[in-house]
Amino acid sequence: MPLLRSWVDSANAPDHPFPLNNLPCGVFSRPGDEPRCGVAIGDFVLDVAVLEDSGVLNLADAPLLDVPFWNEVMEAGPQVWAALRSRLMELLGEGSVGRATVEPHLVPLAEVALHMPFLVSEYTDFYAGRHHATNVGTMFRGADNALPPNWLHIPIGYNGRASSVVVSGTPVRRPWGQVKGPEQAVPAFQPSRRFDIELELGAVVGTPSDGPVTVAEADAMIFGYVLLNDWSARDIQAWEYQPLGPFQAKATATTISPWIVTRAALEPFRCSTPPREVPLLPHLQEPGPMLYDIALEVGLTPEGGRETVIARTNYREMYYSAAQQLAHHTTSGCPMNTGDLLGSGTISGATKEARGSLLELSWGGKEPIAVDGGSRSFIEDGDTLELRGTCQGDGYVIGFGACSGRVLPALPDPYRRP
Ligand code: MN
Repeated sequence: MPLLRSWVDSANAPDHPFPLNNLPCGVFSRPGDEPRCGVAIGDFVLDVAVLEDSGVLNLADAPLLDVPFWNEVMEAGPQVWAALRSRLMELLGEGSVGRATVEPHLVPLAEVALHMPFLVSEYTDFYAGRHHATNVGTMFRGADNALPPNWLHIPIGYNGRASSVVVSGTPVRRPWGQVKGPEQAVPAFQPSRRFDIELELGAVVGTPSDGPVTVAEADAMIFGYVLLNDWSARDIQAWEYQPLGPFQAKATATTISPWIVTRAALEPFRCSTPPREVPLLPHLQEPGPMLYDIALEVGLTPEGGRETVIARTNYREMYYSAAQQLAHHTTSGCPMNTGDLLGSGTISGATKEARGSLLELSWGGKEPIAVDGGSRSFIEDGDTLELRGTCQGDGYVIGFGACSGRVLPALPDPYRRP
């Protein structure tokens, strides 16, 4: 599919993240104003809430965009999603007769603050990148036992916290927690010294389910995708994770990018999961390509310094797709809700430069990586970590917007009484 041209000139640049092909969904506010739903186009955000209010957008019998989150549109289902996309393409396309109606409702992106694009119902995180699982397993359990025996048969996951999912730009405070390294005789309560990122893609569930769904049904339930940084305190994680998995190590914060890139925008970039090493049971087999070709990178900027790109990889490296993960999530009968967020698992590639966490990049701290003005094994206070993602189309790109967060120093001991 080629670039779809818009009368919004900036949207036609071949490297602009928000061409007419994209139309990602976010929530924005002007200074002193309340947050409202918007769609990015070129250097602007289109105020779709006002367009629905004035009848230019007519999505359902009752308004869906009169709230500062996209959940009501998501819950309305794929027919409404398709109708919204086709109406916006009509209004914003080159030569549109709707230009005079919508142009007054374009707000420069430079003038707005971006907020959480949807209410996160629940958050589940997976462990579905084979390179990541092999790297971490090798470090924690040795190369012979790197992949757990279940790994090639089910997408392993854990139930995370929706309450600490934050939008890009929100500072993240270094957590305290209980740790016990091999050098410590007894555990200690201290600020994490191995605070880390995980480069992931988040799938946003649009329509709910009640009972087991197939992989094809799961794919159709997904409204869109965001970039996701699953901040991880490795020292807390190493002590707490057996036998029930991560808990406080992952609960401090999860940062997502501010725009939901819809499944429709990603359609031209579908690609297949890799060949199965062992056959999957029928309920996890995919009826078609369910991954996407999304180039990903991570930048680290020390306080007052310049950015170093520390990792470059691609979402197509995953062993399991979000549709497979979502289908697996329902096998027990577990209902899934509008606004459920599914983290893909850390996306690492085969090469050293393609590793999606500092744990892997520095090989557990043994091989610090070079950054502007020094080196890093794990995150230092004042560092800003930014995830970026791009699909390369024919004369256009689909961008996600940055997923960024700066790490603030730990607070004083929260349990110490003066
Ligand atoms: Mn994770």
